[in-house]
Amino acid sequence: MQDCIFCKIVNGDLPAKIIYQDEEIIAFDDIHPIAPIHKLIVPRKHIATLNDLSSSSNDKNLISNLMLVAQKLASEFNIDKSGYRVLVNCNKDSGQLIYHLHLHLLGGRPLAFAC
Ligand code: 5GP
Ligand code: ZN
Repeated sequence: MQDCIFCKIVNGDLPAKIIYQDEEIIAFDDIHPIAPIHKLIVPRKHIATLNDLSSSSNDKNLISNLMLVAQKLASEFNIDKSGYRVLVNCNKDSGQLIYHLHLHLLGGRPLAFAC
């Protein structure tokens, strides 16, 4: 997707502080962190929203792998014991800004219910 910021990061056309990558997933620091730990976990493939995932085994594997990367990074950044939140925004009312599916990994401070 030409105008997608996260596709540009995936392709190396836009810089980001990359903290994890494998053949299907990339993770990097959020540019405007709202918590001491704020990472974005992103499929390399352009999928606009959570609504665009299907029940195919490929997509099932992808969403579980995204969650497992969140779990791994939580442990790596030492927020697994203190606690953390994994968040997906979907469409306008959630405040989704980037229409390329991503998980937010938030932690490093007590998190209010809405963040
Ligand atoms: P959304 O509201 O779509 O769930 O979240 C998008 C997130 O992407 C926001 O937290 C925002 O700060 C982050 N973001 C927007 N543009 C960039 C960018 O160019 N680089 C990085 N690393 N994060 C970005
Ligand atoms: Zn994209």
